[in-house]
Amino acid sequence: MKEFDLVVIGGGIVGCNTFSEAVLNGINTCLLESSNDVSAYATKANSGIVHSGYDPIPGSLMAKYNVLGNKMYKSMCERLGVEYLECGTLTVSKADGKEALMELKKRGEENGVLGLRIIEEAELKQMEPNLSDDIKFALFAPTGGVVSPYSVCIALAEEGIINGGEIQTKFEVKQITKDETGYILSDGIKSVHAKYVINCAGPNANEINKLLNTKTYPMRFVKGEYILLDKSTKGYINHPIFPLPTKVGKGILANITVHGNIMFGPTAVDCQKDDRSVDLNGVEKIKEQILQTVKEPNFKKTIKLFAGIRVKTGSDFVVERDETNKNYYYAVGICSPGLTAAPAIAKDFLEMLKKDGIKTKPINYKKRKPYIDTQNMSSDELDNLIKQNPLYGKIVCRCEHISEAEIIDALNSPLHPVSIDALKRRVRPTMGRCQGSFCIPKLIRIMANERRLKKEQIALNEKGSELIVGDIKNGGK
Ligand SMILES: Cc1cc2nc3c(=O)[nH]c(=O)nc-3n(C[C@H](O)[C@H](O)[C@H](O)COP(=O)(O)OP(=O)(O)OC[C@H]3O[C@@H](n4cnc5c(N)ncnc54)[C@H](O)[C@@H]3O)c2cc1C
Repeated sequence: MKEFDLVVIGGGIVGCNTFSEAVLNGINTCLLESSNDVSAYATKANSGIVHSGYDPIPGSLMAKYNVLGNKMYKSMCERLGVEYLECGTLTVSKADGKEALMELKKRGEENGVLGLRIIEEAELKQMEPNLSDDIKFALFAPTGGVVSPYSVCIALAEEGIINGGEIQTKFEVKQITKDETGYILSDGIKSVHAKYVINCAGPNANEINKLLNTKTYPMRFVKGEYILLDKSTKGYINHPIFPLPTKVGKGILANITVHGNIMFGPTAVDCQKDDRSVDLNGVEKIKEQILQTVKEPNFKKTIKLFAGIRVKTGSDFVVERDETNKNYYYAVGICSPGLTAAPAIAKDFLEMLKKDGIKTKPINYKKRKPYIDTQNMSSDELDNLIKQNPLYGKIVCRCEHISEAEIIDALNSPLHPVSIDALKRRVRPTMGRCQGSFCIPKLIRIMANERRLKKEQIALNEKGSELIVGDIKNGGK
């Protein structure tokens, strides 16, 4: 059985930040993730906004971690080599909403958010010409930004691995037993041992706490559906644009992605833990409500409908050292703004570990190498690259212009992607207008070759979603 100082359960944005933070502080750490890739649950499908922090209630953990996390994001993304769009966010109102915006501004200032200002109609319409005509005021939060949430999560996982940490995917923690020095965690077949354990299991955080007979929290699941438009709509808006928040949440927003898509959503519908379906009612609701914020959205450019699931526990995050079990810690109910808050939560976990005696030491830091991105190269750079390896000139994904060499590089990256969706989250094949209609057969061939697998073994995401069932010419054998 492998021995670690620390095991982190769950490879979402909170778990991966915690993993990387621990590894960079010289802690012998393993992350266990039940799926075949990190970023498998809430972290893969959300709005991707690094919130400034004007919305959470002052004094709450949400407010604390949001504002601290926001301050850490830009430099973290630079360190990881992933994109961070420093665009600011707008929260807009009609003529009668100015007072509510002033209240939000005051709340933000109380939370320590810098640079908030109310913008009047003339300036606002210059910043965003496609706002609906009724919109008269906005709260501009210049410290808000946009990231690709799964790219940040994967980059943190890779950074941890290249600096000596270990990630075991397809390891669903089902049993935890205590011994004199710590904990044995098992999925029923494999086991690892750790002195310290941090539970970042998102939707299953209560189940993990139950394994150690400790506190659980009331938990509910709230689905957020989205409409994603093709990249040709880039420039339609320039910031994430929120309506005034309500008691239910931040509302349906018009949003931008780091890759240039426009996105509308999310809805807020109570759901089951794994219900990622998109309902026609949800789509109609988004289409109707978004018109209160922006005008003439081009829904004909829709390329995908998708949903993410928020895990809610009361009105605040729970980030605690357990009272019953020594050297055991957990994060529960990390809903929005959890993406933003995650680096700050990870710092707090590290402080708790240090207080409880974990040994840290300086490491010889190795910087993560970002994926080669041929789309953003000059033609001279690309020519040179193709001379070195002609596969950089062989386009596999026509919509996103991804070459075969980029796919192969991703397949050999530190946390090997083992599904088409995992490849998509690294270098974007199937993300474009055709959603994989043209490139999936090629991706299956490349992946099968590189992994020395049969084509029938290549899955879209988890086991059971294999894309090919057999060979037509040989009678399906
Ligand atoms: C619709 C929507 C919009 C959002 N928008 C934003 C936003 O714009 N900005 C923002 O800051 N936040 C946003 N959020 C919130 C943010 O996405 C979440 O707070 C964050 O992703 C939670 O991360 P996590 O690591 O706690 O959980 P998760 O991402 O859910 O990760 C938990 C991981 O644990 C694994 N796991 C579960 N059980 C086990 C087990 N037994 N053994 C091993 N592994 C296990 C899961 O497979 C999963 O990978 C949004 C959320 C949603 C749903």
